[in-house]
Amino acid sequence: MSFMELVDRFETFDFNEYFQSVTRADIQRSLNRDHLEPYDLLNLLSEPAQGFLEEMAQKARKLTLQYFGRTIGLYAPMYISDYCSNHCTYCGFNTTMDFTRTKLSLEQIECEAKVIADTGIRHILVLTGEAPAKTPISYFENTIGILKNYFSSIALEVFPMDEEKYRILKKAGADSLTVYQEVYDKKIYSQVHPKGRKADYQYRLLTPERGAKAGFRGINIGTLFGLGEPRTEAFVSGLHAKYLEREFPDVEVSLSLPRMTKAQGGIKPKHILTDTRFVQFMLAWRLYMPRLGISISTRESADFRDKLIHLGATRYSAGSQTDVGGYALKANDATVQFEVTDTRSVEEVSDMIRQSGYQPVFKDWEIF
Ligand code: SF4
Repeated sequence: MSFMELVDRFETFDFNEYFQSVTRADIQRSLNRDHLEPYDLLNLLSEPAQGFLEEMAQKARKLTLQYFGRTIGLYAPMYISDYCSNHCTYCGFNTTMDFTRTKLSLEQIECEAKVIADTGIRHILVLTGEAPAKTPISYFENTIGILKNYFSSIALEVFPMDEEKYRILKKAGADSLTVYQEVYDKKIYSQVHPKGRKADYQYRLLTPERGAKAGFRGINIGTLFGLGEPRTEAFVSGLHAKYLEREFPDVEVSLSLPRMTKAQGGIKPKHILTDTRFVQFMLAWRLYMPRLGISISTRESADFRDKLIHLGATRYSAGSQTDVGGYALKANDATVQFEVTDTRSVEEVSDMIRQSGYQPVFKDWEIF
């Protein structure tokens, strides 16, 4: 069964009714269990579970230490092209936005790589918009060829591809894939992706599966909080991660919790995910999936990120720039995909991690 069939099964499920029916006893029962079922996840995502945050945090912390030790993986994003033919209404790179688009040459990519590698970062996340004519598969192969000289792990957050193309990129040296569904609610998905290749909900939804089948060792997924009803989106994201973990046991599955920020397109978030809710969702996911990686980006503030270390987070971006050529070729009027809130350097973030009693991990993978 593909994940699409699982999503279809929940189409008639009344999430609101379920969340309203959850009692304190239900939550306590879910908290007492060693192996959580989907309805336990629902219970922990419900409103009344906010009264159990301390208990959830203690259990989540214990599980995280058990499975990950006192470590936080570090990575940096590298935007190499902001050409995009999609119409995502929430994104500053969408095709209707009027700005001078940039695609880095291979020489420029090398300049960016040198600056990032000098900070100690060894895990790189390569990002582009969706413009296959501008950034064909050969461009990615060449990019990976350069990045291999500077980094020990190369993850891709580029447009969804067929399994065969992923195999080519894996062979070139990429090892992980990030692809966010953005919003699992099909109706909202169509509204915020009115045109372009990304309008195909199913193709995007099945992208992580194609990546796993192609042999990527890490798959990172998530929803963009702000678009759909947060509890339901957190639930389906959790189901998706669990599905991937079960179907592809060799793959390291992780979830991110990006929240919409000001810089993204013109639309405002329909649903605000508060900090408390953010923490609740993270904890619920950890209890549901003890081995789950949880990535926290620099969209979040420094203070908030410092606290999340103790609550189940396993991976942080650091020293991030979210514009094309943002590290070495910085232009003052560059268009960013989202605003960075935690502007600390890699060194400052590493110091904070150490001071919190954890070890910043720059490298845990080697490309052969
Ligand atoms: S979210 Fe990605 S696909 Fe959508 S407009 Fe932005 S860059 Fe393009």
